[in-house]
Amino acid sequence: MRFFIAGLATETNSFSPIPSGALAFSLDHVRRVRAGEIAPPKDEMLAVFHELCSTDGHEVVQGIAAGAEPGAPVVRAVYEELRDMILDDLRAAGDVDVVLLALHGAMIAQGYDDCEGDLLARIREIAPRAIIGAQLDPHCSLTEIMVANADLITIMREYPHTDFAERAADLHRHCLRAARGEIRPAAALIDCRMIGFFPTTDGAMKQVVGAFRHSSAEPRIVTAEFAHGFPWGDVPEMGARVLVYADGDLEIAKAEALRLARLVHDRRRELQAAFPDLASSLDRAEGLDGLVVLGDFADNPGGGAPGDSTFVLRELLDRGIADAAIGAFHDPEAARLCADAGPGATIRLRLGGKLGPESGDPVDLVAEIVAVAEDHACTAFGMRVPLGRSAAIRCRGIDILVVSSRSQLYGVDGFTGLGISLRDKRLVVVKSSNHYVASFGPLADHTWHMATPGAMNLDFASIPYRRLDRPVFPLVEDPWPGEDMQAAIRIAKRPAPGGI
Ligand SMILES: [Zn+2]
Repeated sequence: MRFFIAGLATETNSFSPIPSGALAFSLDHVRRVRAGEIAPPKDEMLAVFHELCSTDGHEVVQGIAAGAEPGAPVVRAVYEELRDMILDDLRAAGDVDVVLLALHGAMIAQGYDDCEGDLLARIREIAPRAIIGAQLDPHCSLTEIMVANADLITIMREYPHTDFAERAADLHRHCLRAARGEIRPAAALIDCRMIGFFPTTDGAMKQVVGAFRHSSAEPRIVTAEFAHGFPWGDVPEMGARVLVYADGDLEIAKAEALRLARLVHDRRRELQAAFPDLASSLDRAEGLDGLVVLGDFADNPGGGAPGDSTFVLRELLDRGIADAAIGAFHDPEAARLCADAGPGATIRLRLGGKLGPESGDPVDLVAEIVAVAEDHACTAFGMRVPLGRSAAIRCRGIDILVVSSRSQLYGVDGFTGLGISLRDKRLVVVKSSNHYVASFGPLADHTWHMATPGAMNLDFASIPYRRLDRPVFPLVEDPWPGEDMQAAIRIAKRPAPGGI
Protein backbone atom coordinates (compact mmCIF):
# COMPACT_ATOMS: atom_id res chain seq x y z
CA MET A 1 0.00 0.00 0.00
CA ARG A 2 1.04 3.61 -0.58
CA PHE A 3 0.04 6.12 2.07
CA PHE A 4 0.01 9.91 1.85
CA ILE A 5 -0.03 11.75 5.20
CA ALA A 6 -0.31 15.44 6.00
CA GLY A 7 -1.55 17.73 8.76
CA LEU A 8 -3.21 21.14 8.96
CA ALA A 9 -4.79 22.21 12.21
CA THR A 10 -6.07 25.18 14.13
CA GLU A 11 -9.26 25.87 16.05
CA THR A 12 -10.89 29.12 15.02
CA ASN A 13 -12.60 31.33 17.60
CA SER A 14 -14.79 33.76 15.61
CA PHE A 15 -14.68 36.20 18.53
CA SER A 16 -10.91 36.13 19.14
CA PRO A 17 -8.89 39.37 18.84
CA ILE A 18 -5.78 37.38 17.79
CA PRO A 19 -5.18 37.24 14.01
CA SER A 20 -4.21 33.91 12.41
CA GLY A 21 -1.77 34.85 9.67
CA ALA A 22 1.53 33.51 8.44
CA LEU A 23 3.21 34.27 11.77
CA ALA A 24 0.65 32.19 13.65
CA PHE A 25 1.56 29.18 11.50
CA SER A 26 5.17 29.53 12.54
CA LEU A 27 7.71 28.21 10.07
CA ASP A 28 8.74 25.72 12.67
CA HIS A 29 5.35 24.11 12.26
CA VAL A 30 5.34 24.02 8.46
CA ARG A 31 7.65 21.45 6.99
CA ARG A 32 7.70 20.45 3.41
CA VAL A 33 9.09 17.11 2.43
CA ARG A 34 9.65 16.48 -1.27
CA ALA A 35 7.58 13.69 -2.78
CA GLY A 36 9.29 10.37 -2.29
CA GLU A 37 11.53 11.74 0.43
CA ILE A 38 11.22 10.09 3.80
CA ALA A 39 12.04 12.18 6.82
CA PRO A 40 10.95 11.79 10.42
CA PRO A 41 7.98 14.11 10.78
CA LYS A 42 8.12 16.95 13.29
CA ASP A 43 4.43 17.13 13.99
CA GLU A 44 3.56 14.56 16.66
CA MET A 45 0.33 13.43 15.05
CA LEU A 46 2.13 12.87 11.77
CA ALA A 47 4.86 11.03 13.64
CA VAL A 48 2.20 8.64 14.93
CA PHE A 49 0.75 8.22 11.40
CA HIS A 50 4.24 7.76 9.98
CA GLU A 51 5.11 5.01 12.42
CA LEU A 52 1.79 3.21 11.90
CA CYS A 53 1.96 3.45 8.11
CA SER A 54 5.57 2.40 7.68
CA THR A 55 5.08 -1.02 9.27
CA ASP A 56 4.59 -4.12 7.11
CA GLY A 57 6.59 -2.68 4.23
CA HIS A 58 4.05 -0.01 3.24
CA GLU A 59 5.32 3.11 1.54
CA VAL A 60 4.66 6.53 3.11
CA VAL A 61 4.74 9.86 1.30
CA GLN A 62 4.61 12.82 3.63
CA GLY A 63 3.14 16.23 2.97
CA ILE A 64 3.34 19.24 5.26
CA ALA A 65 2.37 19.43 8.91
CA ALA A 66 1.14 22.92 9.77
CA GLY A 67 -0.48 24.18 12.95
CA ALA A 68 -1.30 27.39 14.76
CA GLU A 69 -2.44 28.22 18.27
CA PRO A 70 -6.17 29.04 17.97
CA GLY A 71 -7.20 32.56 17.05
CA ALA A 72 -9.49 34.50 14.71
CA PRO A 73 -10.38 33.20 11.21
CA VAL A 74 -7.24 32.38 9.21
CA VAL A 75 -6.03 34.95 6.68
CA ARG A 76 -7.41 33.72 3.36
CA ALA A 77 -4.12 33.69 1.43
CA VAL A 78 -2.38 31.82 4.26
CA TYR A 79 -5.02 29.07 4.35
CA GLU A 80 -5.02 28.75 0.57
CA GLU A 81 -1.23 28.50 0.43
CA LEU A 82 -1.06 25.79 3.10
CA ARG A 83 -3.95 23.89 1.51
CA ASP A 84 -2.34 24.09 -1.92
CA MET A 85 0.97 22.82 -0.51
CA ILE A 86 -0.86 19.68 0.64
CA LEU A 87 -2.68 19.32 -2.69
CA ASP A 88 0.54 19.84 -4.70
CA ASP A 89 2.36 17.25 -2.60
CA LEU A 90 -0.50 14.79 -3.10
CA ARG A 91 -0.46 15.33 -6.88
CA ALA A 92 3.30 14.86 -6.90
CA ALA A 93 2.94 11.64 -4.93
CA GLY A 94 1.03 10.01 -7.81
CA ASP A 95 -1.21 7.01 -7.08
CA VAL A 96 -1.83 6.44 -3.39
CA ASP A 97 -4.11 3.89 -1.74
CA VAL A 98 -4.77 5.74 1.51
CA VAL A 99 -4.68 9.41 2.53
CA LEU A 100 -4.44 10.07 6.27
CA LEU A 101 -4.90 13.60 7.54
CA ALA A 102 -4.31 15.11 10.97
CA LEU A 103 -6.85 17.95 11.06
CA HIS A 104 -8.78 19.82 13.72
CA GLY A 105 -12.25 20.28 12.26
CA ALA A 106 -13.00 23.81 13.50
CA MET A 107 -10.75 25.76 11.15
CA ILE A 108 -12.38 28.80 9.57
CA ALA A 109 -10.60 31.08 7.07
CA GLN A 110 -11.72 34.35 5.54
CA GLY A 111 -14.19 33.21 2.88
CA TYR A 112 -14.22 29.58 4.12
CA ASP A 113 -16.61 28.42 6.87
CA ASP A 114 -15.30 24.87 6.61
CA CYS A 115 -11.61 24.63 5.74
CA GLU A 116 -11.43 20.89 6.42
CA GLY A 117 -14.47 20.24 4.19
CA ASP A 118 -12.86 22.32 1.44
CA LEU A 119 -9.56 20.45 1.80
CA LEU A 120 -11.20 17.00 1.85
CA ALA A 121 -13.33 17.79 -1.23
CA ARG A 122 -10.23 18.87 -3.18
CA ILE A 123 -8.32 15.78 -2.06
CA ARG A 124 -11.23 13.63 -3.20
CA GLU A 125 -10.98 15.23 -6.67
CA ILE A 126 -7.27 14.45 -6.88
CA ALA A 127 -7.54 10.93 -5.46
CA PRO A 128 -11.04 9.69 -6.32
CA ARG A 129 -10.29 6.03 -5.64
CA ALA A 130 -8.13 6.41 -2.53
CA ILE A 131 -9.45 5.73 0.95
CA ILE A 132 -9.41 9.10 2.68
CA GLY A 133 -9.25 9.19 6.48
CA ALA A 134 -9.12 12.18 8.83
CA GLN A 135 -8.53 12.46 12.53
CA LEU A 136 -10.34 15.38 14.16
CA ASP A 137 -10.40 17.09 17.54
CA PRO A 138 -13.75 16.71 19.36
CA HIS A 139 -14.04 20.51 19.35
CA CYS A 140 -14.81 20.41 15.65
CA SER A 141 -17.76 21.50 13.54
CA LEU A 142 -18.35 18.16 11.84
CA THR A 143 -19.88 19.11 8.49
CA GLU A 144 -21.76 17.28 5.78
CA ILE A 145 -19.00 18.14 3.28
CA MET A 146 -16.35 16.52 5.48
CA VAL A 147 -18.37 13.31 5.89
CA ALA A 148 -19.29 13.23 2.19
CA ASN A 149 -15.65 13.43 1.08
CA ALA A 150 -13.86 11.32 3.69
CA ASP A 151 -14.29 7.55 3.85
CA LEU A 152 -13.55 7.48 7.56
CA ILE A 153 -13.27 10.09 10.31
CA THR A 154 -12.14 9.43 13.86
CA ILE A 155 -12.40 11.95 16.68
CA MET A 156 -10.49 11.92 19.95
CA ARG A 157 -12.88 10.63 22.59
CA GLU A 158 -11.23 12.11 25.64
CA TYR A 159 -11.11 15.71 26.85
CA PRO A 160 -8.28 16.25 27.98
CA HIS A 161 -7.22 14.74 24.63
CA THR A 162 -5.06 11.99 26.09
CA ASP A 163 -6.04 9.47 23.42
CA PHE A 164 -4.81 11.07 20.18
CA ALA A 165 -2.39 8.23 19.45
CA GLU A 166 -4.99 5.57 20.19
CA ARG A 167 -7.48 7.23 17.83
CA ALA A 168 -4.85 7.65 15.13
CA ALA A 169 -4.24 3.91 15.37
CA ASP A 170 -8.00 3.29 15.04
CA LEU A 171 -8.14 5.48 11.93
CA HIS A 172 -5.14 3.76 10.38
CA ARG A 173 -6.59 0.31 11.04
CA HIS A 174 -10.05 1.14 9.62
CA CYS A 175 -8.57 2.81 6.53
CA LEU A 176 -6.23 -0.09 5.85
CA ARG A 177 -9.12 -2.55 6.11
CA ALA A 178 -11.25 -0.39 3.81
CA ALA A 179 -8.40 -0.16 1.28
CA ARG A 180 -8.09 -3.96 1.32
CA GLY A 181 -11.83 -4.30 0.77
CA GLU A 182 -12.35 -5.99 4.14
CA ILE A 183 -14.91 -3.39 5.23
CA ARG A 184 -17.19 -1.01 3.32
CA PRO A 185 -18.04 1.89 5.64
CA ALA A 186 -21.52 3.42 5.34
CA ALA A 187 -21.92 6.71 7.19
CA ALA A 188 -24.73 8.43 9.09
CA LEU A 189 -24.25 11.92 10.54
CA ILE A 190 -26.77 13.33 13.01
CA ASP A 191 -27.02 16.84 14.39
CA CYS A 192 -27.76 16.84 18.15
CA ARG A 193 -28.95 20.48 18.05
CA MET A 194 -26.93 21.13 21.17
CA ILE A 195 -23.95 23.26 22.11
CA GLY A 196 -21.85 22.89 25.23
CA PHE A 197 -18.54 22.11 26.80
CA PHE A 198 -17.95 18.49 27.71
CA PRO A 199 -14.97 17.37 29.82
CA THR A 200 -14.91 13.57 29.79
CA THR A 201 -13.16 12.77 33.06
CA ASP A 202 -16.31 12.29 35.15
CA GLY A 203 -20.08 12.55 35.37
CA ALA A 204 -22.58 11.99 32.58
CA MET A 205 -20.03 12.68 29.84
CA LYS A 206 -17.80 9.83 31.01
CA GLN A 207 -20.80 7.52 30.57
CA VAL A 208 -21.51 8.97 27.12
CA VAL A 209 -17.92 8.24 26.08
CA GLY A 210 -18.41 4.70 27.39
CA ALA A 211 -21.53 4.30 25.24
CA PHE A 212 -19.62 5.34 22.09
CA ARG A 213 -16.76 2.98 22.91
CA HIS A 214 -19.23 0.16 23.50
CA SER A 215 -21.03 0.88 20.24
CA SER A 216 -17.72 0.85 18.33
CA ALA A 217 -17.08 -2.69 19.56
CA GLU A 218 -20.37 -4.01 18.09
CA PRO A 219 -19.79 -6.43 15.20
CA ARG A 220 -21.45 -4.46 12.36
CA ILE A 221 -20.29 -1.04 13.58
CA VAL A 222 -16.93 0.16 12.27
CA THR A 223 -16.81 3.10 14.66
CA ALA A 224 -19.13 5.52 16.47
CA GLU A 225 -17.86 9.08 16.90
CA PHE A 226 -19.01 12.06 18.96
CA ALA A 227 -18.13 15.62 17.95
CA HIS A 228 -18.53 18.02 20.88
CA GLY A 229 -18.54 21.09 18.63
CA PHE A 230 -16.78 24.37 19.37
CA PRO A 231 -19.24 26.98 20.66
CA TRP A 232 -16.94 29.93 19.85
CA GLY A 233 -16.67 29.06 16.16
CA ASP A 234 -19.63 30.85 14.58
CA VAL A 235 -20.50 28.71 11.54
CA PRO A 236 -23.83 27.26 10.40
CA GLU A 237 -22.98 23.65 11.30
CA MET A 238 -21.52 24.36 14.76
CA GLY A 239 -22.65 22.07 17.58
CA ALA A 240 -22.58 18.50 18.88
CA ARG A 241 -22.95 15.72 16.30
CA VAL A 242 -22.92 11.95 16.11
CA LEU A 243 -21.25 10.05 13.26
CA VAL A 244 -21.57 6.29 12.88
CA TYR A 245 -19.93 4.05 10.28
CA ALA A 246 -21.44 0.61 9.80
CA ASP A 247 -19.93 -2.09 7.64
CA GLY A 248 -21.78 -2.22 4.33
CA ASP A 249 -25.20 -1.33 5.77
CA LEU A 250 -26.54 2.20 5.79
CA GLU A 251 -29.66 1.28 7.78
CA ILE A 252 -27.53 -0.02 10.65
CA ALA A 253 -25.46 3.17 10.61
CA LYS A 254 -28.59 5.34 10.69
CA ALA A 255 -30.28 3.37 13.47
CA GLU A 256 -27.17 3.36 15.67
CA ALA A 257 -26.50 7.07 15.08
CA LEU A 258 -30.09 7.86 16.03
CA ARG A 259 -29.85 5.73 19.17
CA LEU A 260 -26.66 7.48 20.29
CA ALA A 261 -27.93 10.96 19.42
CA ARG A 262 -31.07 10.30 21.47
CA LEU A 263 -28.92 9.15 24.36
CA VAL A 264 -26.95 12.42 24.23
CA HIS A 265 -30.12 14.50 23.80
CA ASP A 266 -31.84 12.82 26.75
CA ARG A 267 -28.92 13.71 29.03
CA ARG A 268 -28.43 17.24 27.68
CA ARG A 269 -29.21 18.99 30.97
CA GLU A 270 -26.74 16.87 32.96
CA LEU A 271 -24.13 17.46 30.27
CA GLN A 272 -24.25 21.23 30.53
CA ALA A 273 -21.24 22.65 32.32
CA ALA A 274 -22.01 24.76 35.39
CA PHE A 275 -18.80 26.31 36.69
CA PRO A 276 -18.65 28.87 39.54
CA ASP A 277 -17.59 32.43 38.75
CA LEU A 278 -14.32 34.03 39.86
CA ALA A 279 -15.53 35.61 43.13
CA SER A 280 -17.35 32.55 44.42
CA SER A 281 -14.44 30.31 43.38
CA LEU A 282 -11.96 32.35 45.42
CA ASP A 283 -14.38 32.53 48.38
CA ARG A 284 -14.55 28.76 48.37
CA ALA A 285 -10.82 28.25 47.76
CA GLU A 286 -9.89 30.45 50.71
CA GLY A 287 -11.87 28.19 53.04
CA LEU A 288 -10.32 24.90 51.87
CA ASP A 289 -7.32 23.00 53.18
CA GLY A 290 -4.72 21.59 50.80
CA LEU A 291 -3.72 22.67 47.31
CA VAL A 292 -6.48 24.21 45.19
CA VAL A 293 -5.90 24.29 41.40
CA LEU A 294 -8.29 26.45 39.37
CA GLY A 295 -8.65 26.87 35.61
CA ASP A 296 -8.98 30.40 34.20
CA PHE A 297 -11.47 29.03 31.71
CA ALA A 298 -12.10 32.07 29.53
CA ASP A 299 -8.46 33.05 28.98
CA ASN A 300 -7.40 29.80 27.35
CA PRO A 301 -5.20 30.45 24.29
CA GLY A 302 -6.07 26.88 23.27
CA GLY A 303 -9.54 28.21 22.45
CA GLY A 304 -8.38 31.44 20.82
CA ALA A 305 -8.13 33.64 23.92
CA PRO A 306 -5.28 36.21 24.26
CA GLY A 307 -3.70 34.58 27.34
CA ASP A 308 -3.00 37.94 28.98
CA SER A 309 -6.20 38.61 30.91
CA THR A 310 -5.70 40.08 34.37
CA PHE A 311 -9.09 39.52 36.04
CA VAL A 312 -7.87 36.69 38.29
CA LEU A 313 -4.50 38.25 39.15
CA ARG A 314 -6.19 41.55 40.04
CA GLU A 315 -8.60 39.70 42.35
CA LEU A 316 -5.76 37.74 44.04
CA LEU A 317 -3.87 40.99 44.70
CA ASP A 318 -6.98 42.82 45.93
CA ARG A 319 -7.78 39.99 48.34
CA GLY A 320 -4.18 39.74 49.53
CA ILE A 321 -4.03 36.03 48.67
CA ALA A 322 -0.44 34.80 49.00
CA ASP A 323 1.20 31.36 48.59
CA ALA A 324 -0.24 31.32 45.08
CA ALA A 325 1.01 30.77 41.53
CA ILE A 326 -0.60 31.92 38.28
CA GLY A 327 0.21 31.56 34.59
CA ALA A 328 0.98 31.50 31.84
CA PHE A 329 0.70 35.20 31.01
CA HIS A 330 1.35 35.72 27.30
CA ASP A 331 3.24 39.02 27.36
CA PRO A 332 6.39 38.98 25.19
CA GLU A 333 7.37 42.56 26.08
CA ALA A 334 7.13 41.90 29.82
CA ALA A 335 9.14 38.68 29.36
CA ARG A 336 11.84 40.63 27.49
CA LEU A 337 12.06 43.28 30.23
CA CYS A 338 12.37 40.57 32.89
CA ALA A 339 15.07 38.75 30.90
CA ASP A 340 16.97 41.98 30.41
CA ALA A 341 16.86 42.92 34.10
CA GLY A 342 17.90 39.38 35.01
CA PRO A 343 17.33 37.06 37.97
CA GLY A 344 17.57 38.75 41.35
CA ALA A 345 16.49 42.16 40.06
CA THR A 346 13.37 43.92 41.26
CA ILE A 347 11.58 45.97 38.63
CA ARG A 348 8.39 47.88 38.08
CA LEU A 349 6.42 45.91 35.52
CA ARG A 350 3.14 46.55 33.69
CA LEU A 351 1.75 43.06 33.02
CA GLY A 352 -1.02 41.76 30.75
CA GLY A 353 -4.27 43.40 29.72
CA LYS A 354 -2.85 44.49 26.38
CA LEU A 355 -4.68 42.54 23.70
CA GLY A 356 -8.26 43.70 23.97
CA PRO A 357 -11.22 44.27 26.24
CA GLU A 358 -11.35 40.49 26.84
CA SER A 359 -8.02 40.87 28.68
CA GLY A 360 -9.08 43.47 31.24
CA ASP A 361 -6.68 46.26 32.24
CA PRO A 362 -2.91 45.89 32.68
CA VAL A 363 -1.67 45.32 36.24
CA ASP A 364 1.24 47.39 37.60
CA LEU A 365 3.53 45.33 39.80
CA VAL A 366 6.77 45.63 41.67
CA ALA A 367 8.20 42.27 40.72
CA GLU A 368 11.21 40.29 41.81
CA ILE A 369 12.68 38.32 38.94
CA VAL A 370 13.24 34.76 40.09
CA ALA A 371 14.31 33.01 36.89
CA VAL A 372 14.42 33.54 33.12
CA ALA A 373 14.82 31.15 30.19
CA GLU A 374 15.25 31.87 26.50
CA ASP A 375 13.55 28.71 25.24
CA HIS A 376 11.09 27.56 27.87
CA ALA A 377 8.46 24.87 27.23
CA CYS A 378 5.83 22.75 28.89
CA THR A 379 4.71 19.20 28.22
CA ALA A 380 1.31 18.31 26.79
CA PHE A 381 0.47 14.59 26.65
CA GLY A 382 4.14 13.78 26.09
CA MET A 383 4.65 16.52 23.48
CA ARG A 384 6.83 19.60 23.93
CA VAL A 385 4.91 22.89 23.69
CA PRO A 386 7.24 25.89 23.22
CA LEU A 387 6.67 28.92 25.46
CA GLY A 388 9.62 30.96 24.19
CA ARG A 389 11.47 33.52 26.29
CA SER A 390 9.90 33.25 29.74
CA ALA A 391 10.25 34.53 33.28
CA ALA A 392 9.22 33.50 36.75
CA ILE A 393 8.50 36.60 38.82
CA ARG A 394 7.25 37.12 42.37
CA CYS A 395 4.99 39.83 43.72
CA ARG A 396 3.38 39.92 47.19
CA GLY A 397 3.59 36.16 47.69
CA ILE A 398 2.33 35.30 44.20
CA ASP A 399 4.58 33.49 41.71
CA ILE A 400 3.73 34.53 38.16
CA LEU A 401 4.78 32.77 34.94
CA VAL A 402 5.28 35.14 31.99
CA VAL A 403 5.86 33.67 28.49
CA SER A 404 6.44 34.95 24.95
CA SER A 405 4.81 32.22 22.90
CA ARG A 406 1.02 32.20 23.24
CA SER A 407 -0.06 28.81 24.49
CA GLN A 408 -2.44 27.26 26.89
CA LEU A 409 -0.54 25.96 29.94
CA TYR A 410 -0.79 22.19 29.83
CA GLY A 411 1.87 20.84 32.17
CA VAL A 412 3.12 21.58 35.68
CA ASP A 413 6.63 21.84 34.18
CA GLY A 414 5.61 25.25 32.80
CA PHE A 415 5.94 26.39 36.42
CA THR A 416 8.44 23.94 37.87
CA GLY A 417 10.80 24.21 34.89
CA LEU A 418 11.44 27.80 35.96
CA GLY A 419 11.82 26.90 39.62
CA ILE A 420 8.27 27.73 40.73
CA SER A 421 7.38 24.98 43.19
CA LEU A 422 3.70 24.13 43.49
CA ARG A 423 3.65 21.83 46.51
CA ASP A 424 4.19 24.74 48.93
CA LYS A 425 1.31 26.74 47.42
CA ARG A 426 -2.28 27.00 48.58
CA LEU A 427 -3.66 28.12 45.23
CA VAL A 428 -2.54 27.62 41.62
CA VAL A 429 -4.40 29.29 38.73
CA VAL A 430 -3.83 27.91 35.23
CA LYS A 431 -4.80 29.65 32.00
CA SER A 432 -6.48 26.62 30.45
CA SER A 433 -10.07 25.41 30.12
CA ASN A 434 -9.65 21.71 30.83
CA HIS A 435 -6.44 20.16 29.44
CA TYR A 436 -4.52 21.27 32.56
CA VAL A 437 -6.41 18.70 34.62
CA ALA A 438 -4.35 15.85 33.13
CA SER A 439 -1.09 17.21 34.56
CA PHE A 440 -2.20 19.35 37.53
CA GLY A 441 -5.04 17.11 38.74
CA PRO A 442 -2.83 14.51 40.45
CA LEU A 443 -1.15 17.29 42.47
CA ALA A 444 -4.34 19.02 43.58
CA ASP A 445 -6.50 18.37 46.60
CA HIS A 446 -9.29 20.34 44.93
CA THR A 447 -9.66 21.44 41.34
CA TRP A 448 -12.35 23.09 39.24
CA HIS A 449 -12.81 25.42 36.28
CA MET A 450 -13.79 29.03 36.97
CA ALA A 451 -16.28 30.72 34.64
CA THR A 452 -14.07 33.79 34.32
CA PRO A 453 -14.66 36.86 32.15
CA GLY A 454 -12.83 36.83 28.80
CA ALA A 455 -12.74 35.53 25.25
CA MET A 456 -14.32 32.14 25.98
CA ASN A 457 -17.54 33.18 27.58
CA LEU A 458 -19.58 30.23 28.87
CA ASP A 459 -22.80 32.23 28.88
CA PHE A 460 -23.82 31.04 25.41
CA ALA A 461 -26.97 33.19 25.42
CA SER A 462 -24.77 36.30 25.45
CA ILE A 463 -22.55 35.20 22.52
CA PRO A 464 -23.54 37.23 19.42
CA TYR A 465 -23.95 34.32 16.98
CA ARG A 466 -24.65 35.46 13.43
CA ARG A 467 -24.38 32.22 11.47
CA LEU A 468 -26.13 29.60 13.59
CA ASP A 469 -28.99 28.37 11.41
CA ARG A 470 -31.17 26.26 13.70
CA PRO A 471 -32.47 26.07 17.28
CA VAL A 472 -29.95 24.55 19.72
CA PHE A 473 -30.05 23.61 23.38
CA PRO A 474 -29.45 25.44 25.77
CA LEU A 475 -30.35 28.57 23.75
CA VAL A 476 -33.79 26.95 23.51
CA GLU A 477 -35.10 24.34 25.92
CA ASP A 478 -36.54 22.03 23.24
CA PRO A 479 -34.73 22.16 19.90
CA TRP A 480 -37.24 19.67 18.40
CA PRO A 481 -40.65 21.33 18.81
CA GLY A 482 -43.10 18.93 17.20
CA GLU A 483 -40.33 17.26 15.15
CA ASP A 484 -38.84 13.80 15.30
CA MET A 485 -35.11 13.50 15.78
CA GLN A 486 -35.07 11.45 12.60
CA ALA A 487 -35.14 14.83 10.87
CA ALA A 488 -31.68 15.47 12.28
CA ILE A 489 -29.97 13.00 9.94
CA ARG A 490 -27.79 15.40 7.98
CA ILE A 491 -26.09 12.91 5.74
CA ALA A 492 -26.42 9.22 5.08
CA LYS A 493 -23.72 7.89 2.80
CA ARG A 494 -23.99 4.49 1.23
CA PRO A 495 -20.92 2.29 1.18
CA ALA A 496 -18.73 2.39 -1.91
CA PRO A 497 -19.53 -0.49 -4.31
CA GLY A 498 -16.49 -2.61 -3.45
CA GLY A 499 -12.95 -2.55 -2.25
CA ILE A 500 -9.94 -1.61 -4.30
ZN1 LIG B 1 -10.07 20.09 21.62
